[in-house]
Order: sequence, then C-alpha cells, then structure tokens
Amino acid sequence: MSRFCGKAVAATTVACIWICAAGADSGARVSWIPEEPEQGDALVVDVRLDKETSSLGGRFIDRDLIFFPWGEGAWRAFAPIPVGARVGDRELVVEIELENGTKKRSSETVRVKAHDFDESHLSVDPKFIQPPDEERERIRRERRMIREAFSESADERLWRYPFVRSAEGRRTGRFGTRRLFNGELRSRHMGLDLDGSPGDPILAMSDGRVVLVHHLYYAGKAVFIDHGHEMFTVYFHLQDFEVEVGDEVSAGQRIGTIGATGRVTGPHLHLGVRLQGRYVNPESFLELDIGPDPKARR
Ligand SMILES: [Zn+2]
Repeated sequence: MSRFCGKAVAATTVACIWICAAGADSGARVSWIPEEPEQGDALVVDVRLDKETSSLGGRFIDRDLIFFPWGEGAWRAFAPIPVGARVGDRELVVEIELENGTKKRSSETVRVKAHDFDESHLSVDPKFIQPPDEERERIRRERRMIREAFSESADERLWRYPFVRSAEGRRTGRFGTRRLFNGELRSRHMGLDLDGSPGDPILAMSDGRVVLVHHLYYAGKAVFIDHGHEMFTVYFHLQDFEVEVGDEVSAGQRIGTIGATGRVTGPHLHLGVRLQGRYVNPESFLELDIGPDPKARR
C-alpha cells in the first residue's frame, strides 16, 4: 500500500463501478481505460474517493499499482500489460484504507484482448546477427549499463499529459512485431518506429530526467529518460545527442536528431516506453484520452 497526500483540482468523467456490492460506504469507485485493453497496452486505473483515505494501493498482472493524484478525490495508476499476457479475464485489485482505519478491498475483472501482432523480415549487417568476438565484452557491459539506468526512478510523477509525439514521420514499425533478421534471428520489436531523415529533431515525449546517453552496439546512439514512478522512455539510432545525463527535460524539448546508428535498415527513430520493467505500446500513450492534467505547467 502506498501512502499519499496532497490535493489537486480537476476531475474526469468515466464509467464507474462501485468498489464492491457491500462496500459502497467506502465511497470509492474503480474504473479503467481502455475498457477492454489489449496485450502490450498500458492500462489506466482510476479510483474516485468521496472520503478521506490514508492509503491506496493495488495490483494488476504481477505489478503493484503506483497511484498518483489526478484532481479532487481522484487517483490514477498506469499498469503495464505484457505483450505475452494471457488473454481473458484478469483480476484488478484495489485496496483502500480510510482515515478511521477501515480497510476496503475491491476485486474487479478486466478482460485483456489479444493484440494482432504482425511479422516482418529484415536484412541487417551480419555483425548484428553474430557479433564479432571483440564486441562481446562491449555488449555485456552495455547490458549492465542499461540495467543500471532502469534500476532507479524518481518516486514522484515527473511526466505530464498529454504526451508529445517524438518525431513527425509516419509509423514504419509497430510495437510487438515478431521480427526475423536475415532469415535467422527472431526477436520481438519492443518499440514504435517513426520515419525521418538524418538530422530531423527528436522531442522528449514528456517531462523527466535524462539517465543514460550512450552509443550502444544494437540501439546505436541512445537516450534514456526517467519520468518517475518507474516509467521510462528510450530513443534509439540517433545521429546526434542534444542532452546529457542528469539534464531535466520538458515535454517537446529537443533531445537529439534522427540517425541510422546501431542495428537498423535505414534512418528512423525507435521510441520505447517502459513501465515497471515492461515495454508497452507507445501508441497506447500517444493516443490516450485522460482529460486535462491537473498538474500545473512548470
Ligand atoms: Zn524499432
């Protein structure tokens, strides 16, 4: 159960479900967006409270819900649905502790639908299929570096809604696509590819802090941003960097330019969104409709 405090201003209208048949006296309603999420989506969990609460927590598909305030008496959390999540009914648990010490537990059923992931065949430089021996140590070192970058996140919400599309170009690669490189290496595409020409600007998807800027073997020149509450965005294959580790960035700020570094077939931006250790579909953020953000622009 995570503690919280503070007041915010706006509220949003969503279809609501009372927290449990006999528990309506808790004055809490739980709902979620989208109503029937798909594999790889970020689920938005909404809790509306009429009474003072001392703590609020919950769980969905093996992850604790991290709630943040969203208007008067309203709380939200993002829950990552794995690409390989079992399809069907999944339990969403919300636990509330009222100021008088009364505890309420809500159990709802969220139907997770199958996402129709496509398949693509790509040709890349063979060194990205079978890395030369002298690069193995570099790749191992970079894996550790990436793990480290994801290991700490601000314990407050740094991001702001709406999210900014990081490049103007059309979508050239969908999230979750099964890929076959040079007819042999199978992998899953854990981001969204956006078309562009070398030198085109890349914008931060939201406010956050830069936690890694490095030329990686597979991802090429890459920028990693922490948005707080274990939400990160990653930007791969850049031509040039325009930020450094430790920089505070705001939504829409330039962080670099489109390039073709790393394992690519041509210039583009690979945008990844990682939530509590799971990559989710960036389009489920860019298309999200959750009303005005009560957090004032800094
Ligand atoms: Zn990509």
